[in-house]
Amino acid sequence: MSRILAIVGRPNVGKSTLFNRLIESREAIVDEASGVTRDRNYGKSEWNGKMFSVIDTGGYVVNSDDVFEAEINKQVHLAIDEADVILFVVDVESGITDLDDAVAEILRRSGKKVVVAVNKVDNNQRILDAQEFYGLGLGEIYCISSMTGSGTGDLLDQVVESFGDTPDNDEEHELPYLSVVGRPNVGKSSFINTLLDEDRYIVTDVAGTTRDSILTRYNKFGHDFVIVDTAGLRKKGKVRDDIEFYSVLRSVRTIENSDVCLLLIDATRGMEAQDVNVFNLIARNRKGVVILVNKWDLIEKDVHSTKKMEAEIRERIAPYTDVPILFISAKTKQRVYKSLDIAMQVHKNRKKRIKTSALNELLLEAVEAYPPPSVKGKFIKIKYVTQLPSPTPAFALFANLPQYIREPYKRYIENKIRENFDFKGVPIQVYFRQK
Ligand code: GDP
Ligand code: GDP
Repeated sequence: MSRILAIVGRPNVGKSTLFNRLIESREAIVDEASGVTRDRNYGKSEWNGKMFSVIDTGGYVVNSDDVFEAEINKQVHLAIDEADVILFVVDVESGITDLDDAVAEILRRSGKKVVVAVNKVDNNQRILDAQEFYGLGLGEIYCISSMTGSGTGDLLDQVVESFGDTPDNDEEHELPYLSVVGRPNVGKSSFINTLLDEDRYIVTDVAGTTRDSILTRYNKFGHDFVIVDTAGLRKKGKVRDDIEFYSVLRSVRTIENSDVCLLLIDATRGMEAQDVNVFNLIARNRKGVVILVNKWDLIEKDVHSTKKMEAEIRERIAPYTDVPILFISAKTKQRVYKSLDIAMQVHKNRKKRIKTSALNELLLEAVEAYPPPSVKGKFIKIKYVTQLPSPTPAFALFANLPQYIREPYKRYIENKIRENFDFKGVPIQVYFRQK
């Protein structure tokens, strides 16, 4: 189950400043470990020991004062659909505007959990000014200054409380949870229908299906897994909004609820920025991933087509390139079932445990062959390696001076692990710790 916080509000109220503050400490750790470039609009935060996702919806729309009311409306409706809690940011300097009132009205009617943050309350006088925001009719208000961070602790207490008792993201399922993600029109519905429609008799509903996600058990050809589907994917007349924000936001919940994601891209378009964004979303959530280049039937092929396209894709997803890439057609069914085999292998890789003895044998030799460069005349010694008991693969190397280990060396170690043990399609974490 997911915990998703969406930040909504007019342009210039301070949404992105607040977003950066909410994710900053957490982000440093994640980025260092994964090498994944940071997304300006999506990040992970942690408060009182609870992890949650933060989405700055404002970051995806035109950020100008004359942004259309219709655009804000769309943004708010989508946040209502996709988030668990909405953080409505308003600006004490401008007071309640017509647009604030309009947004409040939609939020009130939605029945969603809403937390109101009155931003730019940089001093005590402004606390008095902020009282007018009770007039929004959304209950308690939280006075904050995103700039200085004041008030954000109380705000986060309330946010975390609003999530209720949802369990953590990586709860253990008995069966693998698989999802199909990608931007509009890549063929997600076609892919799922190819699997499900013809085999209707094997489809059974699984407990846990909610308004937000449909869980379908698939048990055939020796596979037994659950397809996680966001409501709407299989709906007729779904919204076809080709705006990045909408498709990325729509993917978040699905990704968080699955173990392995099949990322579909369109063969006629190649891997574009938006696809890379979804890929990064999968990686930073530490989910398994298989890239499926769909509509391969439409491509005029020569002997080099697959190699060339594969190389282009790996270039776009660097440095995390140890990912299976298949060329498929949901229409002709080419390699659709093969995709499932690979996805199941990725799932196994994600649950893989390497014996400490095997790890040490490999990595201590690798370290000896290429030791970490000394820093200020100090030699870094790595003594011991172990896989951590985390839900996804993570390794800890114990060293005398772990703070001096740099990113390239981590990458070297990660590559050694990948060369020797199959972790294809799985993000892995490498940590250096004090011995
Ligand atoms: P967004 O458009 O809602 O994402 O707003 P931004 O985060 O880009 O902020 C808009 C402007 O408000 C920027 O100039 C920020 O520096 C400023 N700002 C943000 N938070 C605060 C705050 O707490 N106090 C003050 N005085 N200014 C702020
Ligand atoms: P979604 O928005 O990602 O769910 O995409 P759809 O499954 O609705 O597919 C979008 C369009 O692409 C439809 O017209 C499909 O018929 C077409 N399509 C999907 N997969 C393939 C494929 O493998 N080959 C071809 N030629 N067309 C496809």
